[in-house]
Amino acid sequence: MSYIVNMQKLNKHFGQLHVLKDIDLQVTQGEVLVIIGASGSGKSTLIRCINGLEDFDAGQLEVDSFKLEPKGKSQQSLNSIRKEVGMVFQQFNLFPHLTVQRNIMLAPLKVRNKSTQDAAKLADKLLARVGIANQAHKHPEQLSGGQQQRVAIARALAMEPRLMLFDEPTSALDPEMVGEVLDVMRGLAKEGMTMLVVTHEMGFAREVADRVIYIHEGCIVEQGTPEEIFDNAQNERTQAFLSRVL
Ligand code: ADP
Ligand code: MG
Repeated sequence: MSYIVNMQKLNKHFGQLHVLKDIDLQVTQGEVLVIIGASGSGKSTLIRCINGLEDFDAGQLEVDSFKLEPKGKSQQSLNSIRKEVGMVFQQFNLFPHLTVQRNIMLAPLKVRNKSTQDAAKLADKLLARVGIANQAHKHPEQLSGGQQQRVAIARALAMEPRLMLFDEPTSALDPEMVGEVLDVMRGLAKEGMTMLVVTHEMGFAREVADRVIYIHEGCIVEQGTPEEIFDNAQNERTQAFLSRVL
């Protein structure tokens, strides 16, 4: 069995703070995994380790068969991994001085060495896919938050990633815009994209996740199908967390 993500006994400190404790996590191709847990439990740090935005202290990590070493000693793998892994953040992080279309074209031009024409064509196709084909020539500030986040998703998809990471992609949005972003993510999941999603949207998790992981103080305390976690959590910490958020 080959995994897209294979993490074994991963440990990470920030100074004295032990943020990730012996995390074991295997993700198979096409799997949609939702990570839940209280603020500060280590969710962002965990997924940031997967594309090397954070290094880790000890343990083993392979992403799409590229091996990442502890303490950031794997620049070559990092470059490879970042081509295969797309990431979408809470803050959209679009380039404000570029049009929407140019934002999406950037990586295909610079990293994939596509021609301007091909990159533009790809951008337009992706904008249509996330439902904002008519916004290509605007600047990010002219778009709503939900539209900007959809551009950010399109930008990540432009690298044709094998894995998509989402870190609370709807947390910065006004409530009326959450649905349009979740719809795009739901579509990706249906098409078979492998996805790791940190979210507080429990309805989305229940509907879309193949597996839900609950993290508490840097440990995976419990994991299972949405039914197992949301309807029948075994661990009392999971139960307490869910009783606060559901
Ligand atoms: P979550 O995403 O679950 O809210 P994080 O992974 O962001 O949690 O953070 C886990 C813990 O690590 C928190 O206590 C946070 O304050 C701390 N932390 C996160 N990033 C840093 C950093 N760059 N330097 C020091 N501490 C950090
Ligand atoms: Mg976080």
